[in-house]
Amino acid sequence: MNIEGIKVISHRQHEGIGIILQVERIGKESSCPRCGTRSHRLHQNHRYLVKDLPWGETFIYLEINRRQFKCKKCVKPFSEELEFVRKRRTYTKRLAKQIIQEVLENDIHSIAKKGLVTTEEIERMLKDASKEFLKAKPSELKRLGIDEIALIKGKGNYCAVLIDLEKSKLIGMLDGRTQEEIREVMLGWGKEVLEKVEEVSIDLWKGYKNVVTELMPNAQVVADRFHVMAQINKELDTQRKREKRQAEDVIKKAKTSEDKAVQEKVLEGLKKSKYVLLKNESDLNEEQKAKLVQVKDVSPTLNSMHELKEKIRQIFEQANHWLTGLFKLGVWRSEAKKYFPDSQNTIIRWLDEIIAYFDHKTTSGVVEGINNKLKLIKRSAYGFRNFENFRIRCLLNWQFNC
Ligand SMILES: [Zn+2]
Repeated sequence: MNIEGIKVISHRQHEGIGIILQVERIGKESSCPRCGTRSHRLHQNHRYLVKDLPWGETFIYLEINRRQFKCKKCVKPFSEELEFVRKRRTYTKRLAKQIIQEVLENDIHSIAKKGLVTTEEIERMLKDASKEFLKAKPSELKRLGIDEIALIKGKGNYCAVLIDLEKSKLIGMLDGRTQEEIREVMLGWGKEVLEKVEEVSIDLWKGYKNVVTELMPNAQVVADRFHVMAQINKELDTQRKREKRQAEDVIKKAKTSEDKAVQEKVLEGLKKSKYVLLKNESDLNEEQKAKLVQVKDVSPTLNSMHELKEKIRQIFEQANHWLTGLFKLGVWRSEAKKYFPDSQNTIIRWLDEIIAYFDHKTTSGVVEGINNKLKLIKRSAYGFRNFENFRIRCLLNWQFNC
């Protein structure tokens, strides 16, 4: 049986149903929950069935005798405490745990189809588990990541996610992404948790910075390097589109066939160039590298911008001290002024937070993996009638797998 303090009295097999084990707590007495007095005066037996972990294909039911005792002191009856099963539940705690684990890997309907537990029971299990979880505050939270995910791509339906970066664990998920919503969740963690946070990695949004500065007195705000790179890539991509459009325009208006041929060569070079320009150069295969050479041949501006993009990526990869980072970013900025005006401004505005990155190399890079998992959950057959169900399901995933 493997449940501490419980003994099996008898067992019987029922064809087509499973095995019923008659169980009882060991010991002839119990403590009164009101006054703590130990009592052995049996008042009455109360038997009921709960489902337990199956043995292979065989379903197991426990016929529990939950005894009632009469307290000498209070002169009132009380029921004994059974740790392995919640009150008014039709399954053991360990079965609930296993089912939740299975649901997290599959979906509710395929688990219910096995016939051991019903959809209603599973929903009850998830709800119980989430209540237990929602009460818990983040423990030992030192590095926090705040990021956003798009629940429905392109629909602007964003929600903020809070991540324990050291444990790569989702610890919070919000319906929206406003400063007030984040603030409320963090206030719920309490001063003790907030004061222990050392670093918070955020995207380049002032609202998050304000909340962190206000609520976490000991935390350094770190601008996430991937968001800085995203901005640089965006600017690079805008230039790529601009040059492509220009080449197309010139071709349309070209008066001589020579003019046209020159621009067609440019256009050919820019075709399908997005990936090779934006992707890390070291990750390109031979064919993609050849494409990159072709792009750079037809566009001196994209050539310079691509080199600058790779250069700042190297700085983020290699500099290990804020002072080195500061110096190298300064050099980069003077070279990039002409090509990356927007990114240049961003770096100036967020300089403190960007160079803070170089000390511990804290980033929200794990968000990507977490985001992928969230998408999988969303796609699974569990019909999320509302955001709350989806949120519970997502948070439980990390709760149970850590
Ligand atoms: Zn009592």
